[in-house]
Amino acid sequence: MKGRPYIVVDRVCKSFGPQPVLREVSTQFRTGEVSVIIGASGSGKSTLLRAINRLEPHDSGSITIDGVPVGSDEATLQRQRIAVGMVFQQFNLFGHMTVLDNLTLAPRRIHKTPRGEANVQAMALLRRVGLQEHAARYPWQLSGGQQQRVAIARALAMRPQVMLFDEPTSALDPEMVQEVLDVMRELARAGMTMVIVTHEMGFAREVADRVLFFDQGRIAHEAPPAEFFGQPASERIRAFIGRMG
Ligand code: ADP
Ligand code: MG
Repeated sequence: MKGRPYIVVDRVCKSFGPQPVLREVSTQFRTGEVSVIIGASGSGKSTLLRAINRLEPHDSGSITIDGVPVGSDEATLQRQRIAVGMVFQQFNLFGHMTVLDNLTLAPRRIHKTPRGEANVQAMALLRRVGLQEHAARYPWQLSGGQQQRVAIARALAMRPQVMLFDEPTSALDPEMVQEVLDVMRELARAGMTMVIVTHEMGFAREVADRVLFFDQGRIAHEAPPAEFFGQPASERIRAFIGRMG
């Protein structure tokens, strides 16, 4: 077990109209821990990540980040969104800005980092994701894998305490998946707290400290990866792993 509980999810429920999407979800994400969430499409994985960032308010139960209820007021929410970085399936880069400006915009606006210092930090992050030569380019000049690595670097530029990834490789051509997973692997190795929704079973097995299996709005099972994949707890999980390869 890693560090202290950083994000605590306690009996969280969420419905869209009559449809329950999160049903009493409880879990804790600890500092330094890599949690991988898997499960069928529509099982509520994205909704949980979005609730943690208050992109989607939950109906009942509680979510705290470092002991503070999520989004209790606007100033708190802004602090929490700095602490909790998020990377989506669609990279959502600012298309009219260079890669460098994509990375420096939020630090300059929100952290009030001077431009020179923001540039130095951004270049260091671009080096880390292997894109220092692309700083002056525009997103449309990059491949999907490169754009997603920029999106990761841009999230890191805010110096988050934890990173949430929602299927970061699902929109990529197969030959670009590994370069993004490599960056995430390196982040994990460096001790970043991460919550990752993915269908990449090999990556989950290798990088996760714990695997959570979502089924119809519930965490149906949780185990360390060796156990999760080695001795599947149910026929449903065995079938799911089989389908995902
Ligand atoms: P997953 O990420 O596991 O595929 P989601 O959390 O995206 O699942 O969605 C869970 C369920 O909630 C799905 O049935 C989806 O159609 C529904 N849903 C998600 N977002 C909305 C929304 N904004 N309005 C209505 N239904 C939604
Ligand atoms: Mg999803």
